[in-house]
Amino acid sequence: MATRFNPIKQARVSEGVINQIKQSILLGHFKAGEKLPSERDLAEEFRVSRMAIREALRALELSGFIETRQGINGGAFVTDLTFEHLGDAFLDLFLADKVSIPEMLQVRLLIEPEVARLATQNINPVAVQRLKEALEIEELPPTTLLKDVEAKQNFHFILAEMSGNRFLEAIVRSLLKLTRNLVLAVDVGPRFIHPAGMHRKVAEAVFSGNPEEAYEAMKNHTLEFGEKLIEMEKTYRQKKALLSL
Ligand SMILES: [Zn+2]
Repeated sequence: MATRFNPIKQARVSEGVINQIKQSILLGHFKAGEKLPSERDLAEEFRVSRMAIREALRALELSGFIETRQGINGGAFVTDLTFEHLGDAFLDLFLADKVSIPEMLQVRLLIEPEVARLATQNINPVAVQRLKEALEIEELPPTTLLKDVEAKQNFHFILAEMSGNRFLEAIVRSLLKLTRNLVLAVDVGPRFIHPAGMHRKVAEAVFSGNPEEAYEAMKNHTLEFGEKLIEMEKTYRQKKALLSL
């Protein structure tokens, strides 16, 4: 007799655990920063092996739901769900040579000027103050490359927040994370890649409240910075090719 049904793969035990833990996080039963029960307690409660729990926790960590900390006070902690792992995904694609900097810049060119334009519509004294402080900090002599990159990216993050669209903000964060990792990997001098003062014009345009001016200023900044990034990618790929010889 011909088979009428397709066999169903037995769902892995850890998948059931993953789904339930994910559900409780999403429903708010476990809040950001809170520690999950120990492996042993979870194994008892789920009535599965500690192996299955460990597997589930690893998967939850990879998908950004929890982070594991070592030490006496360690364990699995619920992360504040952000778009961080989107940034990691972008980075993996770049490292695998599946997305290039010119492609990323095209996207930045579509998004960042729009973000600056939207930011002019949400201008308020607190935002102005934050932008001014960010500008002051980024123009201080940098101590390390990482600090310098963070200070300069902060300006972009504040504008992204001001856009009032969390999805746009998430995309900006992911794209900038990739940019940050590239800058750190290539390790160029901070004054070369993003000299101090590059944001002044953008800030002035945003403060003026003129959406088109803000759009143009950010577009110019993205183009100017983009040229340097393209140079950097070349250096990076050459370095990588040399290392793999
Ligand atoms: Zn910038």
